[in-house]
Formats: sequence, structure tokens, C-alpha cells
Amino acid sequence: MGQDKTVWDNPADLIRQMQPEHPVLAFAPTVLQDKARQFIDGFPGLVTYAVKSNPGEAVIQNLVTAGITGFDVASPYEIDLIGKMAPRAARHYHNPVRATAEITHAVAAGITSWSVDSQSELDKLFAQVPTAVADQGVEISPRFSLPVMGAVYDFGSKFGATPELAAELLRRVAARGYIPSLTFHPGTQCVDPIAWESYISVAREICDMAGVRARRLNVGGGFPSYRVSGVEPDLASIFAEIRDTVNEAFGDDAPDLVCEPGRGLCADAFSLIARVKGVRDGSHVFLNDGVYGGLAELPIVGNLDRIDVLTPQGTPRDGELTGRIVFGPTCDSVDRLPGELSLPSDIAEGDFVVFHGAGAYSTVTNTRFNGFGLLTNATVMGFD
Ligand SMILES: *Cc1c(COP(=O)(O)O)cnc(C)c1O
Repeated sequence: MGQDKTVWDNPADLIRQMQPEHPVLAFAPTVLQDKARQFIDGFPGLVTYAVKSNPGEAVIQNLVTAGITGFDVASPYEIDLIGKMAPRAARHYHNPVRATAEITHAVAAGITSWSVDSQSELDKLFAQVPTAVADQGVEISPRFSLPVMGAVYDFGSKFGATPELAAELLRRVAARGYIPSLTFHPGTQCVDPIAWESYISVAREICDMAGVRARRLNVGGGFPSYRVSGVEPDLASIFAEIRDTVNEAFGDDAPDLVCEPGRGLCADAFSLIARVKGVRDGSHVFLNDGVYGGLAELPIVGNLDRIDVLTPQGTPRDGELTGRIVFGPTCDSVDRLPGELSLPSDIAEGDFVVFHGAGAYSTVTNTRFNGFGLLTNATVMGFD
């Protein structure tokens, strides 16, 4: 069975030796560390990791090893997780709506960076958050939103003030003695840098409206992962576009930049290995994982189409690609991948379907619905 082995060469090696009956998320730490360095070296500012996209301890640990020194946290659980695993790292509490008890928890934990998108929530922060902690100023960043462009999923529909409201919040933050900064999130999986350009120009307008210079500008997450074959994201040109737009908009007055990638950092370091339970009358493919498991976000974000189909011996199926309807294992009709997947015509029961780039919003949203979802973790050297 090869069970004394803890690191496999690649998914095919793992499949050959383990024949996993339950879905497996194969993690390549070297891929994660390379990606982290790409962000640290290329982004013109501080890189913080959005913990919600994959809060696995191995992920946090490898990011810290690679040099990540900041985290975007959204709940007391995430605040404490990072406090424990990376005690020297910055924690930005960027969930704009918080219960009073959550604010109390965060103040006690020493949080010094907050976001906000409403007057009522800013009043709650004013009432509970000191303007300085151990001689260090406390930062509050109004979060604004614009009609979406370039993202596959609209983040502005839940959070984000209008530019006018953001200006007013920024003015109140500065007048009250906190460090005034601004933040936005352009939406997830933005393959086109245009998504950042308009946000950055409007950030400048907000500063002008408020008559306040923002100390920092957090350009959010939204950095794309490699989801569609042949369309490898070009992070370097996104970073360059962000830097140029900030210089154009702000000139010498440019705020320090921060970003908070989730997907862009962690997704490509994982591949999900699901097994074919049956091919119903030669047509529909049933997998042992689906939208209640590690593939939860596919109906919202679209299929992961970097797929390999391997036999139990780990050899690739090479039949002609044909569109197939693919279902997950539960008895719920919703448990279906969107549209059709291109799969080799010789796919058969017992084969393994490897979805590459599956590290974000997969482990965290996996459920045990209907008794499925026993997702296990494994480590691989790489994916080829
Ligand atoms: C979810 C989230 C992120 C990460 O978004 P990605 O699209 O995964 O990069 C960053 N910042 C905030 C405030 C978020 O809520």
C-alpha cells in the first residue's frame, strides 16, 4: 500500500500507491512557496494573505517560511489562528461588519488595522477601538466599491461604500485621530488589470473629496489563479499595471500599497483528486466529490478545466475529448458541475479525475452532506 510514504512525486504516483476511495487534496508546498515569492518580489507593496481562501496550517506555515508577513483575517477564529501560527505577522481585520463582541475580541488580540463601509459600523469602532496601541497608531480603512468589471464574482454587492460615503468615512477617521487608509476588493479571479485601474483612480478622487491623504491603499485580492488551460495568468503585468496606475493617479503623494490575495496565492498549489463512481449507461459521469465538497465554488466561479483523467495504474486516458455532464456523489440534483466537462471518451469507473488549481475555497467549504466529503490531504513534490 505504500502507507509509510508521506510525500508522493505527483498525483499519478499517489494514485498508483494509494488507490484513494475518498477525494484527496494533493498539496505541493514548493509550488506555494514559489507563488508567494512571486508576489513578494513583484508586488510593489506589502503582501498579506486572505486566510479565508484556505486556512490550512500547512498553508500558513509555508507562506511564513516563504516570507509572507501579513494576513487578512475576518473572524476571531482567524485572528487567533494567525496569532498562534505567526505571532509577529500583521493582522488586518478586514470584515467591515462585526458584532460588538467580535470587536472586543480583536481589540484584546491587539489588532491595529480595520476596514469599514458604513457610518454605523464606524461608530462601533470609535466606541471600542483605541487610537493607538503600544505607541503604534491604529489604522481604519474605508472600503469602497464600484460597479464590477473584469471579475467573475461580484464582491461589491455585499461590502463597499459609495465613493461619496467613503470620503465622508475617511474624513471622520482622520479627524478622530486614527490613521486614514483606503481599501477595496475588485472581485475574485480578475484576469484583466482593468479591474484595478478604475478602483485606483477613484481612490484618488475619494482622497480629494475628503481632503485627506490616505496613508495606505489596499488593492484587495482578486488576483487570478490558473483555472483555464492555456490562459495562464500574468501576475507580473497586473503588478506593473497597478504600480503605473498608482503613480499616474497619485504622483508624489502615493500611498503605500497593500494587497490581500487569497486564490492567487493558494489555488495553484493544490490539485483535487476525485474518483469516478460510475459512468451511467455510458453517458453521465458520477464522481465521489462535487459541489457540496471540494468543488463547492464551481457553480459560482465556473469549471476548473485543467483536468487529467488517470487510470488506477496512473496512466493518462487519451481518448477523444467529449462534453460530459458530471455529477457529485450526493442525492441532491444541485450536485452537478456547471455545463459539461471535456473528458476523454474512454473514461471508466475507478478512474481518477485530477482537477488542478483547486486550493482556494475548497477545503474550507467542504461539507459532510449525505455522508460524503471525507476529504483527505496529501503532500506531493509537484503536479507533473
Ligand atoms: C476574500 C477576500 C480576499 C481574497 O480574495 P481572492 O479573490 O481570493 O483573492 C481579500 N480580501 C478580502 C477583504 C476578502 O474578503
